[in-house]
Amino acid sequence: MNKKIIIIDVDDVVVENHHFPIINKYLEKIGKPTFKDTSGFRTNSIRKEVFKTPEELNDFVDFFLQFDSYEKLNSILGAIEAVKHLNGVHDVYLVTASLFNQRTVEMGRCMVDKLRWITTHLPFLHIDKIIFSSKKHLFNADVIIDDKIDNLCGNYKTKILFTAFLNKHITKKELDKAGIVRADNWDEVIRIINEGNE
Ligand SMILES: [Mg+2]
Repeated sequence: MNKKIIIIDVDDVVVENHHFPIINKYLEKIGKPTFKDTSGFRTNSIRKEVFKTPEELNDFVDFFLQFDSYEKLNSILGAIEAVKHLNGVHDVYLVTASLFNQRTVEMGRCMVDKLRWITTHLPFLHIDKIIFSSKKHLFNADVIIDDKIDNLCGNYKTKILFTAFLNKHITKKELDKAGIVRADNWDEVIRIINEGNE
């Protein structure tokens, strides 16, 4: 089997990026209705609906920063086992952006929260394998797995779009045109990577 360099996104691929407990606490505090059903959503999409002005978003970020933003987040089904398996066979890197990157200084805290989650749930990954960057087009690898289609534009032999709320509307025709394959879960990711070895 060829050893491949594999780049894996974190939010909505390895961890469920749901910050709704904190968002709901904030909405309660300011007297707005809270979200009852948050399945399928992610923080980025909801932010645009709830916080209409930069001032509102800033006030929320101040509140958000009082908490460990990743402490209570669950892993995506099958992700931990799959990353562990791939890491044993291939050369695996997590490449992940920071949250709310318009607040550079404070966001250092969120990066620490995310790093703590990663090192707790994926302790088999060497620290050198964890890279904080949103510039995924700069990397050169055999495989990339990401839920954001814009991140699948770099120099990669196999581009896998991991199904998430924000990318469900993208058609197979559009993906075929861009040379991207969709995986609905981690079993499919492993199958696609293994097929590339045949
Ligand atoms: Mg993501």
